[in-house]
Amino acid sequence: MPTTQKILTHPNIIGAVPDTGVEAAVIDALLVDGGDILAVGERDDLRERYPQAIEVRLPGEAIVAGFHDAHIHTGSYARALATVNLRGAETLDEAQQRLREFVVESETRHPGDDPENAKRWITGGYWDANSWPTGLPSRHDLDAVVAHRPVALSSIDGHSLWVNSLGLKIAGIGAETNDVQGGVIVREGEGREPSGLLRELACDPVMACFAEQSNESLPELLAAAQERLLAMGITHVTDFDEDATRLAFEALHERGELKLRVHKGIPAVDLDRAVAEGWRTGEGDRFITTGPVKLFSDGALGSHSAHMLADFADAPGNHGVEVIDTEALTAQVEKANAAGIAVATHAIGDAANRSVLNAYERTASLTVQRGLRNRIEHAQHVAQSDLPRFASLGVVASLQPTHCTTDFALAGRRIGDREVLNYAWRSLLDSGARVAFGSDAPIEPAEALFGVHAAATRQNRLGQPAGGFEPHERVTVAEALTLFSEGPAYAAGLENVVGRIAAGQYADLVALSDDPRECDPAQIAELRVIATVVDGEYVYEADDSERNPR
Ligand SMILES: [Zn+2]
Repeated sequence: MPTTQKILTHPNIIGAVPDTGVEAAVIDALLVDGGDILAVGERDDLRERYPQAIEVRLPGEAIVAGFHDAHIHTGSYARALATVNLRGAETLDEAQQRLREFVVESETRHPGDDPENAKRWITGGYWDANSWPTGLPSRHDLDAVVAHRPVALSSIDGHSLWVNSLGLKIAGIGAETNDVQGGVIVREGEGREPSGLLRELACDPVMACFAEQSNESLPELLAAAQERLLAMGITHVTDFDEDATRLAFEALHERGELKLRVHKGIPAVDLDRAVAEGWRTGEGDRFITTGPVKLFSDGALGSHSAHMLADFADAPGNHGVEVIDTEALTAQVEKANAAGIAVATHAIGDAANRSVLNAYERTASLTVQRGLRNRIEHAQHVAQSDLPRFASLGVVASLQPTHCTTDFALAGRRIGDREVLNYAWRSLLDSGARVAFGSDAPIEPAEALFGVHAAATRQNRLGQPAGGFEPHERVTVAEALTLFSEGPAYAAGLENVVGRIAAGQYADLVALSDDPRECDPAQIAELRVIATVVDGEYVYEADDSERNPR
């Protein structure tokens, strides 16, 4: 058994908690056994106490606890990685370039000359040609990049498809094909040849060709997504996708291929089944645990469906949509908590946040009695008078820093200058509330370091807005790192086993190219992950990581 013991050493282990009674001048080593941290202290001391342990020098300039994304849609993220994303492409050139990169990347995993792969459709899209100087694109623009595989890319509004020549041929659409009722096959010039653009119902024959392709391979897609996430230092996710994602993660786990820890949320539609089958938040094994049930209180700011206490500044007479009233929400929370299932409710607007806090207040004694932690997802706009209630009710605020730095202009337009706390990270922390950070990928990028950057600067990665959006709500880099590890672990009720570098915790670590506390906060998104360790084993190493093999 001693051969499984390892001493992991590094001169800069951020946030390491030394063993009780240890008064070491430096904490530069961990003793890891079977995936658990057994001791934290000084290398020479551990060397003496565990002479048979193998010693491994961790790479990079700083070691932090593994990142835990407290709010991600991993299945959707995995599917998005397997499709082309043309969102925000400002020219045809840029769209073609992104398609080219996608093909290169996807064909390193599945060679394009493999006959099976050659039949696979390239899908995705979200292109918006309205601002492209070259006007509407054609099949020839796609053929110039990919002629050997069928391509069909949806427009951003979902009402058009942009298809290459091979795709049209496979779908049986040619010069002889007539328009169907409710659809248009756009033609080339004055002729009959299809241009490659299909509108409305004319898209259906093409979509039928790849409809089944996307559903069959979620475990494989997740396996690829897992590699991406591990390369970002993400060792744990709290997932809010549908049940298919849970099944796919379980399939990977059964095959022994799951390297990422998963706290899997329960969709609202599955609550009754979860109660009937006796699922309980926190139950599971080292890699998969049952998460909270996800409920919705309101919609989103972008579509004016966030539920606000006052009208939107840019839509007088409209203060959003209450998806569920407080009574009905309370009943759901009671049902879940009574069965041992925690609740995570989506709330953007200040009225939504108040309603959810009211529901949680009514069930508070039950929640405490069952040892559960209810949470609010996003908690984006909160009335000043409601803010202290997060701490007093023990409600976890699950926040996504990059939402703020993507949406600050929109938030400014919608909210105007009325009194409300927006993305109130600092205020929540100072009030004593428990906070967990996440990404909400694929809506935002999954990189935890992007989140740390946004949290510490209140700016996007282009440095906008100058000085940061409502900069008094910034948190420090050290706090942000904790909110991406210990915070989500606490929210999940797993803080005794994960989220910190301390004895008794799983050995989940990230080696970074620089000490994030020392570098300019504007540069944090530029930091690189050099290696990621889960359960004491390397699960990712950058090509140039110079780790000591022994
Ligand atoms: Zn989400």
